[in-house]
Amino acid sequence: RMSAPSTAPETNCNIDQATLGAFWMPFTANKAFKRSPRILAKAKGMHYWTEDGHKVLDGTAGLWCVNAGHCNERIVSAIQKQAAALDFAPTFNMGHPLAFEYAHRLCQELMPGKGLDQVFFTMCGSTAVDTALKVALAYHKARGEGSRFRLIGRERAYHGVGFGGISVGGMLPNRRAFGPMLPGVDHLRTTYDREHQAFSKGQPEWGAHLAEDLERLVGLHDASTIAAVIVEPVSGSAGVLVPPYGYLKRLREICDAHGILLIFDEVITAFGRLGKGMGAEYFGVIPDMVTCAKGLTNAAVPAGATFVQKHVYDTFMGATPGDGIELFHGYTYSGHPLAMAAGLATLDVYQDEGLFERAAALAPYWEETLHALKGHPHVVDIRNLGLMGAVELVPRAGKPGQRAFQVFTTALHKGVMVRVTGETIALSPPLIVEKGQIDQIVTTLSQALHEVA
Ligand code: PLP
Repeated sequence: RMSAPSTAPETNCNIDQATLGAFWMPFTANKAFKRSPRILAKAKGMHYWTEDGHKVLDGTAGLWCVNAGHCNERIVSAIQKQAAALDFAPTFNMGHPLAFEYAHRLCQELMPGKGLDQVFFTMCGSTAVDTALKVALAYHKARGEGSRFRLIGRERAYHGVGFGGISVGGMLPNRRAFGPMLPGVDHLRTTYDREHQAFSKGQPEWGAHLAEDLERLVGLHDASTIAAVIVEPVSGSAGVLVPPYGYLKRLREICDAHGILLIFDEVITAFGRLGKGMGAEYFGVIPDMVTCAKGLTNAAVPAGATFVQKHVYDTFMGATPGDGIELFHGYTYSGHPLAMAAGLATLDVYQDEGLFERAAALAPYWEETLHALKGHPHVVDIRNLGLMGAVELVPRAGKPGQRAFQVFTTALHKGVMVRVTGETIALSPPLIVEKGQIDQIVTTLSQALHEVA
């Protein structure tokens, strides 16, 4: 028995210390975790259960990914059937029906009529980002503009953990140990400014002018050296930073004026999180490429995808002589049959259950309920959009992140799983969430905030 009763549910963890040691856990304080493990054993719908049956409401859809809720029967059964019928098929110079079918349906049904007509399948969000960055560079080269080698990211951005993603990303802890990373990368300023934006409901009014920062970088580097700009429409892992009204539209205009590709990293915002198929649709701004993962398969099988505008794809097709390979890039698991089967079933569930519309309909209730935490101890900001939310706390002196982490463990003990990133408690329930469960998340957080204070 290894759980610390005051900070973790009674997990009655059956895994002994020797066994716990071998798994080097990602983005985890391994030493602390292994002293007091939090082990999930099963899931259904809105809930997880720990090994000894402690029921936990999932306030974060796993890691922002289980949008249709856990262990949806149609998705489970599609994966089971596919595993028995065709476990693996290469997609290098071979194919299998589901990869074409899912690509076609995604392009036709997720955001139709916007020109995002081709999709490259990857394994996860990080590989979707790497794919987009590589396609951007190769696109300009194919058009005879190989001088465009620079990639522009943004401060406080998370684009996964590949060398490309951490280079354009803007979170110091994810970057500082890893040397110079990609050359020729620069960053826009963050869109977040608490002084002007604290407790904004939805998109902040203040800050559209921050898009002009791209003009600063054009002035510094010259547009002829810049290949692409990548941003999360709403920054997720950096703490749910919502773009000011007009910001994304202005970025699009500046990119157009200078021949720079615009990439939206929608690993979190795609598949209904903002009440639409993609964030691009929510914001009415169409990028040249979109990366996604997570909700692509309801997270039941790892997969990612990079959508490209037809002009990008056509450039590659046109620039390659004869029947040569147009892009020297791909993963063993690109279009993996189990991922495709999971994805197709997931899309059916989203559509048949109207989950994107459901998220849109719940968003005002979510906003109103979450903002009731204003005035709670140490709360310095609350942010929300769609079914994303964040409660930011003032850090404890000399102990960064500790207070938010205690709120996380306290809430977990009380039966609600939230996510903590830095000083921020991040929320993103599955889109099947009920109003009463939104109440439960917020009431539990309220109690936890008081207790930790
Ligand atoms: N990009 C964004 C915006 C993300 O939120 C994430 C993961 O949270 C990633 C990329 C990386 O995805 P993965 O962990 O699947 O590699």
